[in-house]
Amino acid sequence: MSFDRALRCRECGREYPLAPVFSCEFCFGPLEVAYDYDAMRGRVTRESIAAGPATLWRYADLLPCDPEYRVDIGTGFTPLQRADRLAAAVGLRTLWLKNDTVNPTWSFKDRVVSVAIARARQFGFEVIACASTGNLANAVCAHAARAGMDVFVFIPDDLEHGKVVGSAVYHPTLVMVDGTYDDVNRLCTEVSQSYPWAFVNINVRPYYAEGSRTLGFEVAEQLGWRAPEACVVPMASGSLFTKIHKGLTEFAALGLIDEPGTRMFGAQAEGCSPITTAHRAGTLNFVPQKPNTIARSLAIGNPADGYYALKTMAETEGGAEMATDEEIVDGIRLLAETEGIFAETAGGVTVACLRKLVASGAIAPDEETVAFITGAGLKTVEAVAGRVADPLRVPARTEVFAEALAERRGQAAAPAGAGGR
Ligand SMILES: *Cc1c(COP(=O)(O)O)cnc(C)c1O
Ligand SMILES: [Zn+2]
Repeated sequence: MSFDRALRCRECGREYPLAPVFSCEFCFGPLEVAYDYDAMRGRVTRESIAAGPATLWRYADLLPCDPEYRVDIGTGFTPLQRADRLAAAVGLRTLWLKNDTVNPTWSFKDRVVSVAIARARQFGFEVIACASTGNLANAVCAHAARAGMDVFVFIPDDLEHGKVVGSAVYHPTLVMVDGTYDDVNRLCTEVSQSYPWAFVNINVRPYYAEGSRTLGFEVAEQLGWRAPEACVVPMASGSLFTKIHKGLTEFAALGLIDEPGTRMFGAQAEGCSPITTAHRAGTLNFVPQKPNTIARSLAIGNPADGYYALKTMAETEGGAEMATDEEIVDGIRLLAETEGIFAETAGGVTVACLRKLVASGAIAPDEETVAFITGAGLKTVEAVAGRVADPLRVPARTEVFAEALAERRGQAAAPAGAGGR
């Protein structure tokens, strides 16, 4: 059962009934789901969770929707993989990778959509929609297809081919907007006022956002019911970053783990770094930017949860980093070559920033760290296509192969692309 109780304004604390609304009528602050933790205590236990399915629905008691309305295509409970080779490369003793590339539409957005669509169906919506930087559209389209719902997704017109086709294949109404994500979001906010649609990240955003807590829950459970010392998380709106920490804190409040003490570190692309830039300036108030980066999934210049992400950084004594496009590509390659995970550009941002955080001493070599790899590389092949070694091209003749191999080995003293490291 669900223990959601109300929506509560994050600024003034006023409470509202659970409805498809997202901002406070009095102060315009964002609304967040409030739960009855007292009722949860003793009923939501390590055992009750462990008895659940190997998907994010094992945390159904902690989600703000009736699981009867769920659309389950196998999202969540993804591997937490120990990463000794990458740890050695970046200078850490203990590193884990939370591998969310293996979700049904190959990004963590399947988590937020799982919760949003269940809640939207519970509210009686028949149409689902979103404003997306690509991955969210993929997840919304797939879940809507499974549920047999009508779907409208709005994306900027400069997205990677893989993300456009990765939505179109589910046969939604796909709307490409001439502008940035921030333009798309503005359009959708207006559209949501005239159409009776559940925009997962607008009018049902309070429920959507809660889905990201499952990443915090899973990491704690998979570490054997304890929290890591540091987390490195990619940031677009900043929501995922804040909700991972919220998940760890809630587990402690329920007595499932000890007080976390986890330091939260955010990762952005240099070409869209409003949150990291504000952190460096020592302020909680970011200045919006016009994005220009290959990390399209993180290209939000006016991040809705930027302020709260900066607060979480300050409260946890964490920090933030940014990576250039060059460093992002090197990060993708380093992750693939050391750990066998092919991530999209957001994963490159995470790995590049992880490396810089350790190099600068922000994360100490002995701090047990979890890096969140939130999307898969086949969606953004164009980012690395020109940056991997050429294949040996040979006719089907052994002696030509032997010659080509000898020649390649002669060049092997300087492997292709070694410049970045
Ligand atoms: C959307 C997205 C993020 C960040 O999400 P926010 O909650 O908006 O900060 C991170 N990684 C990938 C791959 C994404 O698609
Ligand atoms: Zn308020």
